[in-house]
Parts: sequence; C-alpha cells; structure tokens
Amino acid sequence: MTVFKKIIDREIPAKIVYEDELCLAFHDVNPQAPTHILVIPKKEVRSLADIEEKDKDLMGHLLTIVSKLAKDFQLSEEGFRTVINAGDHGGQTVFHLHIHLLGGRKLSWPPG
Ligand code: 5GP
Repeated sequence: MTVFKKIIDREIPAKIVYEDELCLAFHDVNPQAPTHILVIPKKEVRSLADIEEKDKDLMGHLLTIVSKLAKDFQLSEEGFRTVINAGDHGGQTVFHLHIHLLGGRKLSWPPG
C-alpha cells in the first residue's frame, strides 16, 4: 500500500485542502515552491502510464480540480505549473498517480 492510499484512508495525517468522492488534494510534505499541492484520485492508479480510456472522465476531473485550487490559492493570475511524474525516468517516487500543483514563485525550465 502506498503512502497516498494511507492518506486517503486517514491512516497517516496530511494537510488536506480539498476532497470529493473522486479525489483528494493536500500539501506536499516537502514543498518545492511556496504553494505545492498534490491532487490524487481516490482510485488506486499506479501511474499516468496505466491510464485507460475508461479513466478519461476521472483525469478531466483531476485537472478541473487543479484549476480550481490554482484559483483558490491565488495562483491563476501570475501562473503556476502542473507536473505528473511517471515512472523511474520521470522521477516518480510514490506509485499512486498524483498531479503536482506548484506556484508562488517563478519556476525555471527545462526540468533537470
Ligand atoms: P513524485 O516524485 O512521485 O512525483 O512525488 C511524490 C511527492 O510526494 C513528493 O513531492 C513528496 O514530497 C511527496 N510525499 C511523499 N510522502 C509524502 C507524505 O507522506 N505526505 C505528503 N503530504 N507528501 C508526501
């Protein structure tokens, strides 16, 4: 079981900022920007690489919530970044799909 599943099940604490029947959003424990939120599906999906046609509504929902949270945290005007790391080369460390929402500072590009 991943650490994110334990957060969903309230077995370990997290600073939760949003929840509905499909997803959960909480502050990253090791923030890389003034605002760093993770949006995750409650459904156990390992990675973006495992997404199937039947998941398209869920993926659309997750991005809609990212956009809502960007507004709620006053990131929309100055801009923000969303990241989905997938697999070893993508830098994924927790194998429960998650979207990073980063904002509050100017972010550099390209990634390392
Ligand atoms: P990944 O590298 O898989 O894209 O991102 C995993 C993220 O989860 C990292 O940014 C890491 O700081 C965060 N993270 C790992 N364990 C925990 C935890 O127990 N609680 C919270 N809130 N974030 C975590």
